[in-house]
Amino acid sequence: MHNLFIEGLKEGNREKLLQVPKSDLHNHSTKGCRRVWLEKRLNRCFPAPPEKFSGLIGMREWFKATIKPFCNNTEGMVMRWEGAFAEAKRNNIQRLSMNFGAPEIDEMGGMEAFKTVIQDFHRAYCPNTVFEPEITYVSCCDAAKEAEMMDDYLSFGFFKSLDVCGGEDVQPVEAFLPLYRKAEQYGLVKRMHVGESGTAEDVRRAVETLGLDEVNHGIHAAESKKVMQFLADHKICLHVCPSSNVMLGYAADYKTHPIKRLYEHGVSVTVNTDDLLLFDSSIENEYLLLYQAGTLTAEQLNEIRRNGLMKSV
Ligand SMILES: [Zn+2]
Repeated sequence: MHNLFIEGLKEGNREKLLQVPKSDLHNHSTKGCRRVWLEKRLNRCFPAPPEKFSGLIGMREWFKATIKPFCNNTEGMVMRWEGAFAEAKRNNIQRLSMNFGAPEIDEMGGMEAFKTVIQDFHRAYCPNTVFEPEITYVSCCDAAKEAEMMDDYLSFGFFKSLDVCGGEDVQPVEAFLPLYRKAEQYGLVKRMHVGESGTAEDVRRAVETLGLDEVNHGIHAAESKKVMQFLADHKICLHVCPSSNVMLGYAADYKTHPIKRLYEHGVSVTVNTDDLLLFDSSIENEYLLLYQAGTLTAEQLNEIRRNGLMKSV
């Protein structure tokens, strides 16, 4: 099967790339469906995103102005979840980690109802995919307060990992300790969005302070050989999202994307979609963009693909 992937990259053959097993481990579920899928479902056309957004705020504003008004309620959210599973099927995603916020679970009426909807989609679209749901909190949250309510979500044994997202430098990393202590009690994989806008030192501090097992983004670790060595020594995997980084301006372009330096310095990395609805991409496209820009070779990208299919810590 790997030859098919290498051939697919070298030939620019999407059909081959789609067939090969892949993972997507950094995927914000409500923005995990393809624009064309949503257009078909809603029988409506959406504008393509700009080449670059002006940061996270620009991205959110674009979404709010163009797509969200047409799928804004609970029904719209469930529809976008369905599209995310449909994409997992189309792209042969065999290991999928999608994240969900507590407010989304509450909107569904609690864990039972939420779990049923998600499990039904999983079963209907990609029953053979290893599905690892992640619970995520925004970085402006009151972590102590949220941690008190976490048992309501985690006691179901549904979630496999914890994440904090929504912008760095909002609070010091220590502020999130209550969430990560709780995650430890439940044996969750500990992740956080860090090193996307932040520095290499920010990545190391978050890993050390919160005991992170893996990092969402982490690309700016590439600016420090010491931090890359630290990540390699501790086998901390970075879940990298190339189009997200380029379109939000955190990486200059695909050719010089930090994933190259990270890989060459022995840091474990995976390739993921982040918010594919907003970046108008998909996982096979992310690999193809990196290959066609000359960032990494087809063989290196194949190794990264296989890395993503391996089980978490
Ligand atoms: Zn993300």
